[in-house]
Amino acid sequence: MRTYTASAIVLRRIDLGEKDRILTIYAREQGKLSAVAKGARRPGSKLAGASEPFTYSRMFLSTGRDLDLLTQADIKESFPNVKQSMAGIAYAVYMMELTNSFVDERQPNPELFDTLLSAMYVLESGTDPEITARYYEMGLLAVLGYEPHFETCLRCGKKVGRKKVAFSPALGGIVCNECGVPPNDTIWVPGAIVSYLRALKNAEPQNLKDMKFPQGALRDLAAMLRWHIRYRLEHELKSVDFIDAVAQFDPNTP
Ligand SMILES: [Zn+2]
Repeated sequence: MRTYTASAIVLRRIDLGEKDRILTIYAREQGKLSAVAKGARRPGSKLAGASEPFTYSRMFLSTGRDLDLLTQADIKESFPNVKQSMAGIAYAVYMMELTNSFVDERQPNPELFDTLLSAMYVLESGTDPEITARYYEMGLLAVLGYEPHFETCLRCGKKVGRKKVAFSPALGGIVCNECGVPPNDTIWVPGAIVSYLRALKNAEPQNLKDMKFPQGALRDLAAMLRWHIRYRLEHELKSVDFIDAVAQFDPNTP
């Protein structure tokens, strides 16, 4: 048995038996891994708080035969403001699920870890959860090499105007409406989306709180990025449905 420490955020947790939990954590230096938090569901357990979804901790682990064991954790950030609203929780859970879906076990990617943690702090600062989610999607896609090409048309290389443009996940970017038959996996979005994508890409995290996007632009960005992510993952994420459900009854959801 070997012991090690990890700076990690909880992507998801499932109950194990009566008292324990299995955590899927994303660790900065070790990547994604699963660990058992023994007794985490007992009242007063020292591991209870640290095993909450999207909590960021310094963790002490030991290697086990099958799963590693979480032995101790010092919580660095539990994101209390995020937990104040259903929308905050829903989008945080979505960002965890998105990360979980894109990364393989034991494949460290400190840059992606930092991007995720930064997005969680953006959410904690009171930034619109929807803008935060789009910002994180763009960051994740960029780190993983899947950033959509949007500054110019992929076929003719010209800058796109305000007319509708075709976004093709298979091509990985935008094709203008003058370039003939669009690819058949196309989703049509207004040309104005380019300026919003650029704003998200270049935003300093601390400035996102003051950014305002028209409702229509947020809807288009969500549709386009969801379409792109779905193509990359080859499936829809569960928490997308959850977010749609929350949006129907929480007045705080943008
Ligand atoms: Zn073109």
